[in-house]
Amino acid sequence: MKAQILKMLRESEGFVSGQQLCEVLRVSRTAVWKAVNQLKEEGYQIEAVRNRGYHMVDSPDILTREELISMMDTDWAGQKIYYFDEIDSTNTCAKQLGEQGASHGTLIVAEEQSAGRGRRGRTWESPAGSSIYMSILLRPEIPPVNAPMLTLAMGLSAAEGLQEYTSLDIQIKWPNDIILNRKKLAGILTEMSTEMDCINYVIIGTGINVNMKQLPAELAKKATSLRLETGRIMRRSEIIALIMKKFEKNYQLFMENGDLRRLQEEYNNLLITREKEVRIIESQEEYDAYALGINEKGELLVRESDGTTKAISSGEISVRGIYGYA
Ligand code: ATP
Repeated sequence: MKAQILKMLRESEGFVSGQQLCEVLRVSRTAVWKAVNQLKEEGYQIEAVRNRGYHMVDSPDILTREELISMMDTDWAGQKIYYFDEIDSTNTCAKQLGEQGASHGTLIVAEEQSAGRGRRGRTWESPAGSSIYMSILLRPEIPPVNAPMLTLAMGLSAAEGLQEYTSLDIQIKWPNDIILNRKKLAGILTEMSTEMDCINYVIIGTGINVNMKQLPAELAKKATSLRLETGRIMRRSEIIALIMKKFEKNYQLFMENGDLRRLQEEYNNLLITREKEVRIIESQEEYDAYALGINEKGELLVRESDGTTKAISSGEISVRGIYGYA
């Protein structure tokens, strides 16, 4: 009920009468009044005026299940939401839900992660109250080898959503990082469960530094948050909803051919290392090359010093700018 009240208040320019809310929600006036009071206690600024009704003056950065539901504008992505104040990792939780049969598009969001993860067992710093930690569960009917492309589809969606929300110059560092002012703003971690040659489910986890005022010393050089770059506090629920909307669109374009040909141009336009010298770090060796852009399979095309072009796939590889992280 609270989610519906939030939605109705936001969609209305002026006041929404108590009567209107009662009729739509099919509850008593007292029930509406109680729910509005709870919302006020949670931090929403809602004005209540006799004979006129309720009006949303301001909604600050609040992350609750109801807030997320009220913001979501999608058909399936993020239509089923699990929210946690604290969790070990949203990806781990999504996997458990995947095993229990959770449906395509289920979204898990947490205020804090005690064991946030990056690639190759690395840690993702996940303090409370300031960032986005979310994982979406997907059940695509595609060969497992094609699943890594979904990381790029989410990377593009996150970049597009963040760009639309902030109007900042958001970029992508292939394959899985979002960059702002040459620093890492967000990371994406894809994991999956397969059976024979089929995908059981894919989990795409996204961590975004939104309102962090400060980062651990060892990260400060190469990472940043929206707040550190702009001085502004942003509404995480709105960002999540925008990214889900973009992802729904991009997922559909991906599924049309089962590859990234329809997303390739947009992705390359945001690629920070496009047509730049990069350092490729593989498990056994490091070398410099010239990055051209991704192909329709999501591989990064690079030209090596002898002039040959090769396609590298994400797996165990890191790419850096030759003068620093990005
Ligand atoms: P590479 O650039 O080597 O490919 P990566 O992008 O694959 O790295 P991930 O595994 O996605 O890195 O993320 C883990 C790494 O990200 C950590 O080792 C740490 O350096 C950095 N990191 C951890 N927490 C955060 C955070 N909140 N914001 C930005 N960077 C972080």
